Amino acid sequence: MVKKQKFIFVTGGVLSGVGKGITAASIGAVLQGKGLSVSIQKCDPYLNVDAGLLNPAEHGECFVTVDGAETDLDLGHYERFLDIELTQKNATLSGRLLQNLIADERAGKFGGKTVQLVPHLTSAIQDAIAEAADGADIHIVEIGGTVGDYEGLSFVEAIREFANRVGRENCFYVHVVYVPFIGTSKEFKTKPAQNALNDLRGFGIVPDAVVVRTDSTAPAGVAKKISLFSGVDENSVILLPNASTVFEIPLSIAASGINGVLSKFTGNTKRPNLNKWKKIVQAQTSTHKKKISIGLVAKYMDNEDTYISVLEAIKSAGWHEDVTVDIKWINAETATPTDFKKVDALLVPGGFGGRGIPGKIAAASYALKTGKPYLGLCLGLQVAVIAAARRAGLSDANSTEFDPSTSSNVVYIMDGQEGKESTGGTLRLGNYVAKLKKDSAVAKAYNATSVVERHRHRYEVNQNFADQIEKGGLTISGTSPDGKLVEFVESKDGSYFVATQAHPEFKSRPNQPHPLFLGLIRAAMKG
Ligand code: GLN
Repeated sequence: MVKKQKFIFVTGGVLSGVGKGITAASIGAVLQGKGLSVSIQKCDPYLNVDAGLLNPAEHGECFVTVDGAETDLDLGHYERFLDIELTQKNATLSGRLLQNLIADERAGKFGGKTVQLVPHLTSAIQDAIAEAADGADIHIVEIGGTVGDYEGLSFVEAIREFANRVGRENCFYVHVVYVPFIGTSKEFKTKPAQNALNDLRGFGIVPDAVVVRTDSTAPAGVAKKISLFSGVDENSVILLPNASTVFEIPLSIAASGINGVLSKFTGNTKRPNLNKWKKIVQAQTSTHKKKISIGLVAKYMDNEDTYISVLEAIKSAGWHEDVTVDIKWINAETATPTDFKKVDALLVPGGFGGRGIPGKIAAASYALKTGKPYLGLCLGLQVAVIAAARRAGLSDANSTEFDPSTSSNVVYIMDGQEGKESTGGTLRLGNYVAKLKKDSAVAKAYNATSVVERHRHRYEVNQNFADQIEKGGLTISGTSPDGKLVEFVESKDGSYFVATQAHPEFKSRPNQPHPLFLGLIRAAMKG
């Protein structure tokens, strides 16, 4: 008999941004703990085709999958929580589906029919869900935004209809709502949540569980009231106050009534093994022997989401080394050597455009000069190469991204990329292999001479300047297999100065820190 797949749909009400993604990922983690295979997908109702051109200040980090999809940061949460590698099919956007539908219409594939949101877009959404489910026991689908948003209606209708496709018994709907605490009357107010549940019912979905997000611990009466007004069993209404760490959420979910309900739904009554999460939470919350500081030389100063995978990668490496890491944000636009001096190590993350570049180059120059540990990610490699070339006497060394007319274009645009600078989906994206020099610091860190990392960039190191880069203190320690593209550089003097053209932060996991981040933390601890 063909295995029946089960589907869990996670929607939100009241507000967006209250942890729907973490809830979806945590439910997945609990089910994995029961030995089930889990896949997961984010559906975003906005009209962009991918997240590549979205402003990170507004939308947070653009996460990159192995096959080069530029996605919402929730896919990063999913990968970290579930330790799986996702692809384009796990990120479904209205814009992409509509683009395909309209292309099909132009190609005459509809045989004269009127093409409509229902049933054509809603069917395309359902096909995308079935495709992403990909044989897993359980497929979790998170719908972005909140139910009732004008642009999300097709998705809500599609997931309702999906129950007709696969059977209501194979679908589980979770609605995540927010319950505010009103300070003046000292009360939790459930009215917005009740309305949000009414909205969902109005679209024909009675949820199987409600997750109630609150800022602080709410009394059980809140669950009771929501149960009463929504018709959802009280056991299936779970109160989820803010946790000290997001990795606690799988444990909170497993300890709540929803665990029993999910056991019934999946037919798997095993108690989930959550040792992994217990260890992670313990590593994170215990008192560490040592404390170090890492200076994050950043451009977006007011939104942690912009660098979420980098921050998570630093933290995981810290927990692994039993050290508290104080992440100091250094504003790249105002940074001075005094800021660099104060921290134990420097990290320059990825970025686009000229804002803050002098400060980032200054950070790399400082590290080259003083031996302060440095990790450069993507743009962080490019500014390191610029710093080294300037140190070797090429005072106008630059990337053509920031100075198109420089005569010392130590970082330049790849062949075939000219003119595409502001277009979508045209960067060098996704997994690429790099070969590492034997005995290099990076080969030692990875304990390998061939590695695969994810990429998202347009500009490359110009190897015509290899001599000046060497003279400035850096050596090229990793390239593409054909030797044409520079993938890694490192210092020649043995200090921990490592930079990569890739984005290793996307491969770090809370319990398996990435070797380059571990290297940085270890070097900072020695300092
Ligand atoms: N702006 C640089 C490039 O396009 C670096 C990109 C990045 O850091 N992701 O090559």
